[in-house]
Amino acid sequence: MHADETIAAIATPAGRGGIGIVRLSGQDALRIARLLLHSPGSDSGSPNKQPDFEPWRVRLAELTDEQGNVMDRALATYFQKPRSYTGEDMVEISCHGSPVVLDFLLGRCLAAGARLAEPGEFTMRAFLNGRMDLTQAEAVRDLIDAQTLYQAQVAARQMEGAVSRRLAPLKKHLVDLISLLEAGIDFAEDDVSVLATPVIEARLAPVEQGIAQLADSFRTGKLIRQGLTLAIVGRPNVGKSSLFNCLLDQDRAIVTATPGTTRDLVSETVEIGGLPLRFVDTAGIREAFDEAEAIGIRKSYEAAADSDLALIVLDSADELTQEDRDLMARLAPLGKLLVVLNKSDLPRRIERETVIREIGNCAAERDSAGCPVPVLSVSALRREGIAELRRAILETAAPALAGASETQFLTNVRQERLLRESLAAFAAARSGLADNIPHEMLLLDLYNALRPLDAITGETTVEDILTNIFSTFCIGK
Ligand code: GDP
Repeated sequence: MHADETIAAIATPAGRGGIGIVRLSGQDALRIARLLLHSPGSDSGSPNKQPDFEPWRVRLAELTDEQGNVMDRALATYFQKPRSYTGEDMVEISCHGSPVVLDFLLGRCLAAGARLAEPGEFTMRAFLNGRMDLTQAEAVRDLIDAQTLYQAQVAARQMEGAVSRRLAPLKKHLVDLISLLEAGIDFAEDDVSVLATPVIEARLAPVEQGIAQLADSFRTGKLIRQGLTLAIVGRPNVGKSSLFNCLLDQDRAIVTATPGTTRDLVSETVEIGGLPLRFVDTAGIREAFDEAEAIGIRKSYEAAADSDLALIVLDSADELTQEDRDLMARLAPLGKLLVVLNKSDLPRRIERETVIREIGNCAAERDSAGCPVPVLSVSALRREGIAELRRAILETAAPALAGASETQFLTNVRQERLLRESLAAFAAARSGLADNIPHEMLLLDLYNALRPLDAITGETTVEDILTNIFSTFCIGK
């Protein structure tokens, strides 16, 4: 990647639209723009044909071909370095969103000496020129990829530097401690006091804690970024598909009154409280009659085990069966679970308390004080209790999110891994301290704790990691 080359790309998505934008960045951006654009009404042969580009001002210009034929009217903005997105001279040309015009314009830029930008190259240049750190650059990608407004909000916070801001004081404390220890070693003869173990421990603890907190926020952050899967399981005919359709608000799964019709897994994604939620409607769980169905049933157990949340549907108009009990027994120890008593429009034959007791029995480790597993009554037929169910799903899946306007979560797996790496070094430092290892050795652990923190913001990132990160961007960003 050569920073002295001027790059160009169509920044707007493929297809027709009101406007389309071509971006140029690099030392020749202005020269190239001047070559292609002319002041409206001027004939291309006349001496004052070029628009007078003033930085950060929009100019109306005509886009012409080599013969001076007008191809489109465009608005061009010149961003003078270093106050531009990339930190270099940039020109953004907005013309009408016609793919042929945009291709023509891009072709002209390339013919005039620009090179086609690699995916993410504009943002990579912004990073390399110090316009943003790596967490901010990654947030740009997340913002573009956001599927829900909430995801976009979280990404926007990170784009402003929320992650780096949280890390900065922690890193500073660590660097201060390292400096003190280094001084203690370097100037041992000069009476610089060597820090006592409890002092070092007391200084390390809050830093480690802060990093652990940030790393732990990834549990919720991951859900925000990737969404979560919810498997809807239960005996045939309890109303899984009907419920699935209610939650999706559309008739996607086939609903029939013959048991065992949903043999395969059907999935669909919706948004609940800003989270993308993928519902998986599974085959009815019961003693299989044929092989295809047996596979379907095994798949539903697997789907439930693989998903972030399982929603067990019971038919409250029917007695609780052995199959229902087996299902609860199998799924209760796995983790997040909700139970729905469907068909609340019919006379009730299963009590809520019975279900709570059943689950309590099969998952001894669950807190028996309250009811850790939400049990809700709904009627998929009449669409009653669905809003409450949506709320309960969100609360169970992401308790840290429900009702909160909190947007401070770590959402990036690379950043989380680096924090874990740092935490491992902290643990090593702690056990070293307990063993009274020499400070030279302790410093090694502390540097090991510091290095991943630097890599999060990009202070010590090697080229191949950068290429890896920016290659996941779209072209033009
Ligand atoms: P699945 O096999 O678990 O997916 O169940 P379906 O969604 O296919 O529903 C089986 C039958 O129960 C259908 O005839 C539905 O119309 C009916 N059903 C589903 N939900 C309700 C409900 O809340 N109340 C009543 N009365 N019937 C329902």
